[in-house]
Amino acid sequence: MEKFTIHTSSPEETGALAEKLGQLLGAGDVLTLEGDLGAGKTTFSKGLAKGLGVTRVVNSPTFTIIKEYKGRLPFYHMDVYRLEDSDEDLGFEEYFAGEGVTVVEWAHFIEDHLPAERLQIEIRREDEDARVLHFYPKSERFITLCKELLA
Ligand code: ADP
Ligand code: MG
Repeated sequence: MEKFTIHTSSPEETGALAEKLGQLLGAGDVLTLEGDLGAGKTTFSKGLAKGLGVTRVVNSPTFTIIKEYKGRLPFYHMDVYRLEDSDEDLGFEEYFAGEGVTVVEWAHFIEDHLPAERLQIEIRREDEDARVLHFYPKSERFITLCKELLA
């Protein structure tokens, strides 16, 4: 499995990296974000939204599970933490197959619904402001994208 690793030392740096990635994404792209509470998943999602041209404020969708935004492409932001131990399907496939970009925080809670082709990202807290981000691209497209992002 291909793996790309990058370290950041501030929320701004994580946001800027995600923004750059957002600029490279296209219709139907699905990204998953894993990491403990406070790792930086939502910080990353906000940067990504900016890169997709979303101008509205992006907040954590913890209570609504799915939020939709308009940008250069539609942006679907999910936080499926509350679906732990439930097999509820909120119509995920339609989002994943749609014209937008989907980001799923805590994606392993809906493992069975995830598309095979996706960019899996794991964020770990190393210190107060230090994070390490591991990118596991699950398709050729995402391998190319990671190379471009981290070049
Ligand atoms: P999660 O969605 O994973 O629970 P959040 O993005 O909501 O995490 O919160 C991450 C917290 O960590 C924020 O308060 C953010 O400012 C802080 N932080 C500190 N350093 C970083 C960094 N390098 N990257 C991302 N967030 C960071
Ligand atoms: Mg979050």
